[in-house]
Amino acid sequence: MGSGEQASNNVDLHRVSPIPSELVPFARFPLPRQSSWAEGIARRLKWWGPVWCPVCGRVSLIVDIGSNLRESCKCIRCRSTSRQRQLAFVVCSVVGSITSTRLRSLKDVAALDDYAIYNTEASRQIHKQLVGMKNYVCSEYFGEEYVSGEIVKGIMHQDLMHLSLEDESIDLVISSDVFEHIPDPYRAHREVFRVLRTGGRHIFTVPFLPGNMLDDVRSFIDLKGECIFVKEPIYHDDPIRKEGTLVHRIFALEMLVNLAKIGFVVRMYHISKASLGIFGPYGLVFEAVKRGSLL
Ligand SMILES: [Zn+2]
Repeated sequence: MGSGEQASNNVDLHRVSPIPSELVPFARFPLPRQSSWAEGIARRLKWWGPVWCPVCGRVSLIVDIGSNLRESCKCIRCRSTSRQRQLAFVVCSVVGSITSTRLRSLKDVAALDDYAIYNTEASRQIHKQLVGMKNYVCSEYFGEEYVSGEIVKGIMHQDLMHLSLEDESIDLVISSDVFEHIPDPYRAHREVFRVLRTGGRHIFTVPFLPGNMLDDVRSFIDLKGECIFVKEPIYHDDPIRKEGTLVHRIFALEMLVNLAKIGFVVRMYHISKASLGIFGPYGLVFEAVKRGSLL
């Protein structure tokens, strides 16, 4: 890429606006329970389709519809869940709008040569679609005994609170239910801010309590490095750790304020689309856009 193109990238690809026409930022609290007639039928039938899968870019059917719609509702072709399709849909819409390209699935996103993506996981369905991308970085967290950037079992280790990535080197950071597992998630958000280019995005999902003002802090790491439990521990499934990963906090409105203080413009999207097999209440995806400077 020539320097002239680089300069135009900085102007055109990384501006804070626009918001894609198919996405409407959502800011209504508490969130209404969103349930469509299609969702009711899908629940009864235990399958739904045909749908367009924004993860694998194929016409598909939705199967394995469980009681937790967000974490079930699998694409029969790529096994993506409703949550992963929510995230993929927002990524396609936002990146498509920035690059003035029609992106219908992560397959199309993976074909963008001049767009740098950092995915905070190195497995699962979203990673599988993006792994062939030219400017793609991915990592997992293997434990505090490793240094960010180290290769462990063939995968890059990164501690999101101490990223080894260079300043302003990434256009898009993707995380899907990761930040609730970080002892100091706002330190990690500041790191994401650092590595993003101006106008770059962090598109992510987290467990979110839309009716609460303050984050539900369940445990934290004290000054001696010990984990202090404030509430009963919760663990989520993890592809790296069989015992699961501890949930340090569940986010609430406080998160939106803290991200704005770091310097992000924060948008929240409420996604429910039967045509994409996206079901479930509180289908929230967050887009944090890096402003020009730290506030
Ligand atoms: Zn799929």
